Amino acid sequence: MQDVLIIGGGPAGAALGCYLSMKGISNTILEAEVFPRDHVGESMVTATTRIFSEIGFLETMERAGFIRKYGASWHPTASKASVHVEFGEFPQEGIEQDYTYQVDRSLFDALLLKHAQKLGSNVYQGVRVKKVLFDGDRAYGAEVQFADTTQTLEAPLVVDASGRNTLIGSQLKIKQKDPLFNQFAVHAWFEDVNKGERPDDIHIHFLPIKRGWVWQIPITDKITSIGGGNGKRSLPRSQIRLRSLV
Ligand SMILES: Cc1cc2nc3c(=O)[nH]c(=O)nc-3n(C[C@H](O)[C@H](O)[C@H](O)COP(=O)(O)OP(=O)(O)OC[C@H]3O[C@@H](n4cnc5c(N)ncnc54)[C@H](O)[C@@H]3O)c2cc1C
Repeated sequence: MQDVLIIGGGPAGAALGCYLSMKGISNTILEAEVFPRDHVGESMVTATTRIFSEIGFLETMERAGFIRKYGASWHPTASKASVHVEFGEFPQEGIEQDYTYQVDRSLFDALLLKHAQKLGSNVYQGVRVKKVLFDGDRAYGAEVQFADTTQTLEAPLVVDASGRNTLIGSQLKIKQKDPLFNQFAVHAWFEDVNKGERPDDIHIHFLPIKRGWVWQIPITDKITSIGGGNGKRSLPRSQIRLRSLV
């Protein structure tokens, strides 16, 4: 029996697996997809650097050649005046580099999960956790779909790192909607976008609609991720013309 069962092999599950293995705590990561798989969330924040450093993953990040993100830029709708922030201006404790990364999540997540495996996590991909098993209010395992068989895995600690799938929250029906975050986003990758000044920054363009904005994230020299978010009530789906923005 493993000490910890981790549901989900995204950055949270994989990073946790690394930390546990480094402390000699046995762990199994159960991931529903087979990596590499697409994922949204491509622009890292500087706080991740400390984690990458602690788990010995910075070298892999550098080797992968992800674009170095030195700052962020915000562009208002009505004027041409932009606001730029350079991370180097705001040193953070324990972080020695003045940049973070823009990542292709399919590659990044696959590398991190592989790193967890290298450090000792038992990783299963293509296996879906159907439900977490409880004895009273204590989780003691999970029911897992391995190909066409269902198996029960037990562990003293079960961690839900299933991301937006929120396995335990859904299973226990304890999820609550936040009316302020009642939002949606659409995104796609585009080639040869004119990235303007500071091409390696994340650029946030505010739209002339309530709570509407668009991100511009360079993934490689050629590919740019463009996506937009909006509060549901302020923009009917029929009005989203993402392609016309680029
Ligand atoms: C529109 C949008 C834009 C974003 N942009 C950014 C950004 O620019 N920068 C940034 O840092 N973050 C961004 N984020 C947030 C970022 O995507 C998340 O913070 C990050 O992916 C969370 O990692 P995680 O490991 O918790 O979950 P995930 O990355 O979602 O990983 C969860 C994993 O669990 C697996 N899983 C789910 N259910 C099961 C199950 N039942 N059994 C087994 N496995 C399961 C999934 O397959 C998945 O691989 C954005 C999010 C959204 C929605």
